[in-house]
Amino acid sequence: MWNRERDTVFTRKNSILSFALLTILGAALPVAASEQSTPIVIRNVTIFDSVQGTMLPDRTIVIVDGSIQAVVSSHQRIKTPRRARAIDGRGKYVIPGLIDSHSHLVFVYNFGHTTSYDVLPLFLANGVTSVRDVGDDVMAEKILARYSDDHPELCPRIFLASQLIEGDPPFHQYIGWNAVMTDPAKVPAYVDDMAAWGVTTLKIYARTGRAVGRKVIEEGHRHGMVVTGHLGAYTPLEAAEDGIDSIEHISAGSIYGYLAARTTPRSIDTASAITTGPELDLTSPVVQELVGALVKNKVMVDPTLVVFRNMLLLPDLPGVAENPENSYVPASLRTFWPTYATSFKPETLEQRKKEFRSYQDLTGLLFRSGVKLLAGTDEPEPSVVPGFSLHEELELLVESGLTPSAALQTATINPARILKKDKEMGSIEQGKRADLVILNASPLADIRNSRRIYRVIRAGTISDPDVLLKMVRERITSQHP
Ligand SMILES: [Zn+2]
Repeated sequence: MWNRERDTVFTRKNSILSFALLTILGAALPVAASEQSTPIVIRNVTIFDSVQGTMLPDRTIVIVDGSIQAVVSSHQRIKTPRRARAIDGRGKYVIPGLIDSHSHLVFVYNFGHTTSYDVLPLFLANGVTSVRDVGDDVMAEKILARYSDDHPELCPRIFLASQLIEGDPPFHQYIGWNAVMTDPAKVPAYVDDMAAWGVTTLKIYARTGRAVGRKVIEEGHRHGMVVTGHLGAYTPLEAAEDGIDSIEHISAGSIYGYLAARTTPRSIDTASAITTGPELDLTSPVVQELVGALVKNKVMVDPTLVVFRNMLLLPDLPGVAENPENSYVPASLRTFWPTYATSFKPETLEQRKKEFRSYQDLTGLLFRSGVKLLAGTDEPEPSVVPGFSLHEELELLVESGLTPSAALQTATINPARILKKDKEMGSIEQGKRADLVILNASPLADIRNSRRIYRVIRAGTISDPDVLLKMVRERITSQHP
């Protein structure tokens, strides 16, 4: 998501510059301050069954070589590996490693004259063990993903996306690396190229037409790739009928805007990208038609509420800039944020509150109708701090009507399915990767307990969130004064 009002602010940055910066900064990183990967046995712990959405008490988890070797009742005797590290799980809760389904690890950082290297540990410190990028410079993403794979004690897994596949002229011309396509015949070669780079998600953007969009879906699926979209010209209804896998953003610039434009007399304020007019009638036929198509075609929706809450409401709230979590990102990014944020007149606050409430109501309707949702943040948009923001998204989803259990599913099993990795991740089961979060309190009792993290395990490597946060703060202070 970007603010169209600010498009002209940015100068075009090319991928060679990104590559050079990433390489230099990557080489300068200190050695990780975390523990080695040895077998781990967690005893007497309560685990979250993300498939059923329930807690299972008194379990023992055995982790060997980065994978879950066994999950059994604590009463059951099993052979455990010698020299395993034992963790007493009494009073603790294990959930699958969280997944942020909407992130931009390259270009927004580039706008803020920095890279995401130094902040990648923020994901892990917050229990986010995987990140789905949804549109970036592919070479720079690839370098980051390699670095992350080499540093499971510091970084989440990174799933790569294509560039923004766009119409002509593209919506965000300043980015410089949009994949502009108006001829469906050009799609197969592009998708082949993306597959060769290891891209797993193709991102259709606002001005792509239906002929190209449909071809992207067809070619992407032929390669076993996932196709998602921030849709405009190619409508959410058309894309759902054509078999798109997921749709990004609940907002005026995407799903809500599509519905609002088809129910009079609403209109989109292009300067601020919010809708104006009476509230959307959730019982209207156009809403029902889209919801029906999403359910029928099993299209997941990634509302990204946190970025819209920040964009619509936070500019007016005192103290937001001083949020202590902001201090974990480089100063240049923090300086960039206000220039990127929309400046609203204070008198529009009530309208903006109503607008955001409408997004939450629509999110709640999708959930109750059976649409599977994804927890995505759009980090590092203004005040959307990597890692921390995923917990804000979970809270906003619960506020929108999801149960805490369903909210956890949006960050575990649902994204694992959308990534087509549910045989490897997304739940705590034998044979899956040992990406886990140990909590000090139950997130089903209160979703805010997802922040009460004792340890994070990524590929069988244990990290202490406090150590990671301290390390990031030191780096940010010393390298980004
Ligand atoms: Zn985005």
